[in-house]
Amino acid sequence: MGLFGGTFDPPHVGHLVTAVNVRHALDLDLVVMMVANVPWQKEGTRRITAPLDRLAMVEAAVAEVPGLVAGAAEIELGGPSYTADTLVTLAAAYPGAELFTIVGDDAAAGIGTWERYREVVERSALVVVDRPGGPVELPDDVPWIRVEVPRLEVSSTDLRSRFTDGRPLDYLVTEPVLDVIRSRGLYQDAPPSVPSPRSSSSSSSSSSSRVAG
Ligand code: ATP
Ligand code: MG
Repeated sequence: MGLFGGTFDPPHVGHLVTAVNVRHALDLDLVVMMVANVPWQKEGTRRITAPLDRLAMVEAAVAEVPGLVAGAAEIELGGPSYTADTLVTLAAAYPGAELFTIVGDDAAAGIGTWERYREVVERSALVVVDRPGGPVELPDDVPWIRVEVPRLEVSSTDLRSRFTDGRPLDYLVTEPVLDVIRSRGLYQDAPPSVPSPRSSSSSSSSSSSRVAG
């Protein structure tokens, strides 16, 4: 079982491509996209969308994806979210499961600052995927394995700024996630607005997308 934790503010195709490909590469039964309750390392740096809104977006993102599930354990536990604790919760919920903690290399580089990080690498195998950018150093005392996934230069930070200045989100966020964003009015404090559904966004959308000739 894979534990892929994050703030997911919002969840994007980089997260989904990572989860699906690590699941395939390691032949995992399940990858849990675990929504951090309080991402304590990001607290105070910016406004973070409410946990239940981020959970709703992740649930929408994985709904049609075999082998991926949204995790609510950190929200249910409350307080700051520590992967070491989450692994204990998962081990209790799935006795005998072999656990893998999945992280992007940027997150892996900071693992030495995680609460009880040694417990994380004792309780699970650390799986690192590369994000675009230069190679990232991991602490010497942390065993890890690399899984190659398509590198997509997409981040929640970029997506939030796209909401702010009105650039397109298409293909970076899946439609079910956009539906949740629209229906809950998320990322709206900074206009302009979220794009409307594709079906009504263009006058030519009802006709063929192919050009004649
Ligand atoms: P933010 O820009 O707000 O930090 P993010 O896109 O980095 O958002 P997080 O929720 O911080 O997303 O990341 C959760 C996990 O997903 C981390 O391990 C991170 O490294 C990984 N991750 C995020 N984006 C990608 C991507 N494009 N490819 C691979 N891994 C990713
Ligand atoms: Mg991040």
